[in-house]
Amino acid sequence: GAIMAADDTAVLAASMTTARVPDTETFDTRAIQELDAAHFLHPFTDHAALRDKGVRVIVRGQGVHLWDSDGKQLIDGMSGLWCVNVGYGRTSISQAVYRQMETLPFYNSFFNTTNVPAVQLAAELVALAPPQFSHVFFTGSGSEANDTIVRMVRRYWDILGQPERQVIISRKNAYHGSTMAGASLGGMAGMHAQGGLPIPGIRHIEQPNYAELGAGLSENAFGLVAAAWLEEEILALGADKVAAFIGEPVQGAGGVIIPPATYWPEVQRICDKYGILLVADEVICGFGRLGTWFGSELMGMRPDLISFAKGVTSGYVPLGGVLVGKRVAHALVEQGGDFNHGFTYSGHPVACAAALENLRILKGERLVEKVALETGPHLKAAFNHLATHPLVGHAESCGMVAGLNLVRAKGATVHECERFDPALGVGMVCRGHMFDNGVIMRAVGERMIVAPPLVMTKAEIDEMAGKIWDCLDLTLADLKARGWM
Ligand code: PMP
Repeated sequence: GAIMAADDTAVLAASMTTARVPDTETFDTRAIQELDAAHFLHPFTDHAALRDKGVRVIVRGQGVHLWDSDGKQLIDGMSGLWCVNVGYGRTSISQAVYRQMETLPFYNSFFNTTNVPAVQLAAELVALAPPQFSHVFFTGSGSEANDTIVRMVRRYWDILGQPERQVIISRKNAYHGSTMAGASLGGMAGMHAQGGLPIPGIRHIEQPNYAELGAGLSENAFGLVAAAWLEEEILALGADKVAAFIGEPVQGAGGVIIPPATYWPEVQRICDKYGILLVADEVICGFGRLGTWFGSELMGMRPDLISFAKGVTSGYVPLGGVLVGKRVAHALVEQGGDFNHGFTYSGHPVACAAALENLRILKGERLVEKVALETGPHLKAAFNHLATHPLVGHAESCGMVAGLNLVRAKGATVHECERFDPALGVGMVCRGHMFDNGVIMRAVGERMIVAPPLVMTKAEIDEMAGKIWDCLDLTLADLKARGWM
């Protein structure tokens, strides 16, 4: 694809006349691709490689399906980006957004003012959250929520007269966002390598990844070992220096890493023992993803703070925030005076109106219960079946997230499979076959993952799993043809 001159007005005009009506027959894909290559810097993208391949243009969504500009239908196994939990095309959300925009599109909540949807949403979130929560701080995204958490936990210990409690412990292969603090909390080496990260006062321990680190142990024994890494780090730093521990109940972007059942209760015990705040990053796990309103509830965590985003609005408009437990809220509200932190869009009325309607849908359609009792178990059965495919070493799921590992040869246990050379990029080859055959699945190394919309029916799960099986066949043949197996 050619890089266009910025003033190529003919191409711009062509794209604009069609862009307003994203009809797959009249849509000028080529013009959009050229403008994209010329002007749009994408997140986490090798742009030279993207330009050569040609970007895919997604134009429409309905239910669990998407359509691209060639008219191709895709089943969205990733809920957009772990967020479109109630599915695409929800008219009641667009109507709620429209009504709120007509009434009050924006007002700030800095200077003795508030707005009705933000207040209603704060109360609703506290009602849905575990009993220790009393307050909400709104942000525009998950990254901003985690930045807020860094400032809030340090502020908390200042207020309590222990300002030396600064260090926040996180985990390798965690994902907590892409801002300075979010990327620092995250444990992605590739992110730390760019931009001088992590910021001071962030430490990383190993993740509770049984397949990678648990050889020779039972899962439950490994869970206790992984939790003990936290205690070792606390003792190495000195407990009086440690402010908080943060983790995703189930690591999402790291590859759907589901911890052993023993892990979080033991982490909770260790945090309690040393008086350290526990933070659950529920940006993915919140709002029903694991079959509970918050993943913490399923995992036996009793967090002091929860960061959320994504599923709170099902991604229809950006919104994030921090649920604040009574322990921290009391210090902030009763003792702390000004907390010098906030965003223009903290409590944005339109985003909050979208969230209120989204939560009404989740409750009205009993989607959280459905994930727990129907669709989650169905997805688990489907992935257990996919685990019998010759290319798959093992598969796991939890609620509406699931992952499977591509291996050169199966083994008796997850630790005995013969693995591919990571440099081959087998996961990306597989992802290509998936996309070409109408199913969106994400690759994290050799791990293939899904996080479907919570509205996906059992029949649609079967449709998706059937396509995944067929694409595994195609991938297997492809890898053999390349001489990689
Ligand atoms: N935390 C987790 C667990 C996430 O998965 C993400 C996004 N994938 C974030 C934080 C960052 O959220 P955002 O992209 O909205 O800033």
